Amino acid sequence: MRAVVITQPGRFSLETLPDPTAGPGELVVAPDGCGICGTDLHILAGEVPFTSYPIVPGHEFSGTVVEVGEGVDHVGAGDVVAVEPSLFCGRCRPCRTGRENLCENFDSIGVGRQNGACAELVVVPGHKAFRLPEAIPRAWGSLVEPVSCAVHGFDMLEARLGDHVLIYGAGTMGLILTQIAAHHGAGSISVVDTNAARLPRAEQAGADFVASRPDEFDRPEGWDAVIDATGAVAAIEDAIRRAARGATVLLFGVAPHDAQARFSPFRVYNAELRIIGSMAIRHSFERALHLMGRRMINGDLLQTHRFALDEYAGALETFRRGDGLKLTVVP
Ligand SMILES: [Zn+2]
Ligand SMILES: [Zn+2]
Repeated sequence: MRAVVITQPGRFSLETLPDPTAGPGELVVAPDGCGICGTDLHILAGEVPFTSYPIVPGHEFSGTVVEVGEGVDHVGAGDVVAVEPSLFCGRCRPCRTGRENLCENFDSIGVGRQNGACAELVVVPGHKAFRLPEAIPRAWGSLVEPVSCAVHGFDMLEARLGDHVLIYGAGTMGLILTQIAAHHGAGSISVVDTNAARLPRAEQAGADFVASRPDEFDRPEGWDAVIDATGAVAAIEDAIRRAARGATVLLFGVAPHDAQARFSPFRVYNAELRIIGSMAIRHSFERALHLMGRRMINGDLLQTHRFALDEYAGALETFRRGDGLKLTVVP
């Protein structure tokens, strides 16, 4: 099979690898779409501590089951599945207390030790494969992974009906969060992105107010739920300042691991702010499928470019330039 292989930090190439086979409890899937996200750039830069090279990247994917290992009976050959890429040890304390996304031995297909889906074939644990409902267009299958991260984010946010929501960032994640907030009974949704070209899509996704600078909004009392989907320190600091009394601030975007942000501890105390994080997927993959099956997420708003396997370099270049939104590799 052909596969994109990141051989070491900074180097990748299109290679021919032996076709993988399904061991007990496993499936072989032929990916039909694999999303590119910031994590892929971090793997290439050598910034993910648990990546073991060489690795085939690709953790946001769906595809057709082509081989079923012994003991897998919930899907069969020919089924179209979306795959939850996170791998948990099941033994550490977070795993034993139901917080598997915080596993001390966290691993992920296409990120850590197991080859991912920028390839013609990928092996996955059978229980991580979920049949894609007919109601979901196949091209949207690779969006289930990012949507399930946003669903977990909303679990953490614990927003109430009628809450006023402010979202920083109108990239793929910001637009998914906007759509969920719209269906979650937000009182209003404001979306800010310094790239004004992204704002019309935020309106299509359900934002009531959009701006390229948060000062353009007229809401001096602040917002009840503030979500950073950028990971930029300036946005995070601003988000905490604009939170209403009693508000929750969700840090959803991935900041650089050594970044530092400034905020007023007095204000956190005095306004009873909750500042929380949200990491990957927790029991939210199947629920993301249900939301998408009901068309609560419009994948057409999110997917902008498609690339063949041998165009991986161009896909990364397009991602780096910030052109478009979700880029999809079609192996
Ligand atoms: Zn990702
Ligand atoms: Zn664990």
